[in-house]
Amino acid sequence: MEENTSKINANHRRYVLIVDDEEINRQMLGFIIGNDYDVMYASNGCEALDILHENSYRISLILLDILMPEMNGYELLEVLRNDMELRKIPVIVLTSEKSAEVDSLRMGAVDFIPKPYDMPDVILARVGRSIKLAEDSSLLSATEQDSMTGLYNKGFFYVYADMHGRLNPDMDMDAVAIDINRLHIVNDLYGRAYGDQVIRRLAGRIKRYAYEHGGYAGRSDGDLFYLYIPHTDDCDALLEELGKDLRLNDDDIQITLRMGIYQNADRSTGMEACFDRAENACKTVRNTYASSYSFYDSKMHEKELYDEQLLGEVDTALAEGQFKVYFQPKYNIRGGRPVLSSAEALVRWIHPALGFISPGAFIPLFEKNGLILKLDKYVWKKSAEQMRIWKEKYGVVIPVSVNISRMDIYEPGLEDEIRSIAAAEGIANDAFLLEITESAYTDNSDYIISVVNSLRSSGFRIEMDDFGSGYSSLSMLASLPVDVLKIDMAFVRNITTSEKDYRMIRLMIDVAGFMGMTTVAEGVETKEQLDLLGQAGCDVIQGYYFSKPVPPDEFEQFIEKELEESKNADS
Ligand code: C2E
Ligand code: CA
Ligand code: CA
Repeated sequence: MEENTSKINANHRRYVLIVDDEEINRQMLGFIIGNDYDVMYASNGCEALDILHENSYRISLILLDILMPEMNGYELLEVLRNDMELRKIPVIVLTSEKSAEVDSLRMGAVDFIPKPYDMPDVILARVGRSIKLAEDSSLLSATEQDSMTGLYNKGFFYVYADMHGRLNPDMDMDAVAIDINRLHIVNDLYGRAYGDQVIRRLAGRIKRYAYEHGGYAGRSDGDLFYLYIPHTDDCDALLEELGKDLRLNDDDIQITLRMGIYQNADRSTGMEACFDRAENACKTVRNTYASSYSFYDSKMHEKELYDEQLLGEVDTALAEGQFKVYFQPKYNIRGGRPVLSSAEALVRWIHPALGFISPGAFIPLFEKNGLILKLDKYVWKKSAEQMRIWKEKYGVVIPVSVNISRMDIYEPGLEDEIRSIAAAEGIANDAFLLEITESAYTDNSDYIISVVNSLRSSGFRIEMDDFGSGYSSLSMLASLPVDVLKIDMAFVRNITTSEKDYRMIRLMIDVAGFMGMTTVAEGVETKEQLDLLGQAGCDVIQGYYFSKPVPPDEFEQFIEKELEESKNADS
């Protein structure tokens, strides 16, 4: 089952272009090399150029006669030498004159074959050697290639795909993005080296497909590949060919692919946009246990336009106050009655034309486009302002937790920023809770840990959001500087039906308690969930059971009720 790219290279057939004005010479050469190569023919330099411009990406070698009508061999060599793309194709000159040999080598030919062709083996050997040398050297010179797979890296892939488009303006092409499902599980089970081998195996398939169909293959990053190919309707065959048995041994788990296809890609917006679309289509395919694919379609196009509209209006929206910060109460349930302990600030976009837009629709978009920090700062500021207003009105500070996007953490001035926001409203740092999603810690944990440590030493409290949704384990908790553990909603949802999830939650709460952390459960909707969480020892509850997130003026009823009840309890 061993398969690697160099072997594929050795097995697949390459194209050789024979350029000679004499029919008999063309036939003889074709006969000699035709068993090992696919051959194309031209009878002068002009014809050769036409063929080259259409097929440059797949021709591995040119066999070139010097004396020809219209455009002779020297003239063609000159043209090739000045063409960024064509100059990469090695040329062997065919000649009967000794003097021509030196001239042609000087002009960039890599070798020559003397006429008459009475030693077929020598000719084959020279052809083979020249092709191999050219391919090896292009591999070596390779900033163009991804070192692990030999495929074009993203940048060069775009350049070549783009060039192909310009040379073949009327050819319908598909942009395809290919991704391995759950590679991390494969890595966990069999080790990274195994995963790497799977990546190389898939890369080899993709490369071969590109080669055989006259396309280009590139590696975007990780296990994401790009394929730019003449349009095909048979996507099942494509998926089948790429995805067939990628595992290394018959007993290993199946490895499946997902693929996004942007058919008849509109090149006018640029290659990058084409492959963004293919990639987006790819992301809509569920990470399932079977290989499957999805197309970029008009619905996705509409979504794209919608997203663009949102992105274009952020600044106006911020300036006009279209973003509203809502607050959702959190209740401490450790005592006899639930006590309002804090609130989470959650942003909404009340758009003048589109109406209410939920954060799920724009937060991921802003995170991708670097706008999130701007919005988050706005939310932090509004939250601090609100805490000050309530403090003035009710004489109590309601601690508020704000969401810190993973991108925010990389902002050098983050800590100063939050400190000055709190200071400006006269709010103590420890009234600010910072929610950081669990998966952020796995990105670059050392760096995040240092940022978080520093924030904590300034008095801010850190809440780990969505715990259990990512890959961190309970044992990892011990090494993380976290004050509050917020259990992911998915666990809460299943707690009443799944004994396993309930046991999981109990364990999380126990471990967190042992580490001196407070636990919060979010997404609590029913009394039954609340009771079970209470039994499990959970400290704080957030969810529709108490209230959905509400605007600040509505939130005041919770404060007033709390003040009332605590007064009654005291008296
Ligand atoms: P999150 O931080 O995990 O916030 C909790 C989400 O669960 C909120 O959705 C909240 O409305 C919802 N939720 C609360 N209780 C319940 C419940 O009982 N049942 C159900 N089904 N849902 C409940 P929302 O407000 O739509 O926010 C979605 C996500 O958007 C947030 O998830 C957070 O990741 C992000 N987000 C919201 N506001 C901000 C913000 O200001 N900055 C950043 N960076 N992200 C934000
Ligand atoms: Ca949150
Ligand atoms: Ca959450």
